[in-house]
Amino acid sequence: MTGFAQSREEAELNLDEARELLERRRAELQERRTRIERHTRHRDEPLPPDFAEQAVELENGETLVALDREVNAELKEIERALKRLADGTFGECTRCGETISEGRLSALPYASLCIDCANATDAAR
Ligand SMILES: [Zn+2]
Repeated sequence: MTGFAQSREEAELNLDEARELLERRRAELQERRTRIERHTRHRDEPLPPDFAEQAVELENGETLVALDREVNAELKEIERALKRLADGTFGECTRCGETISEGRLSALPYASLCIDCANATDAAR
């Protein structure tokens, strides 16, 4: 009985750690998104007359858009992982239902696929 309680406690501790990791990462990304949005708004200012400078401005704008897309995609993954934490399916592969290894989860806390399914998806591309 004591052994059982202990192992259950350990499992819960890991979930708490995962949640903390995810929430910290989410806060980081949200801050980054705010910063990107602030930058993007500054682009409403008149462009400098020099064409070369305009090109740089445009390039930066495109980089910001790509960055913004990246941040939003990761935020979505994190939201999904937090939802899986809430409904108790966190750590299970969303495709085959196998347990995702702890090593993979600590490297990528919002991983939704086990390593086999992730590899299979990569191979299919
Ligand atoms: Zn799988």
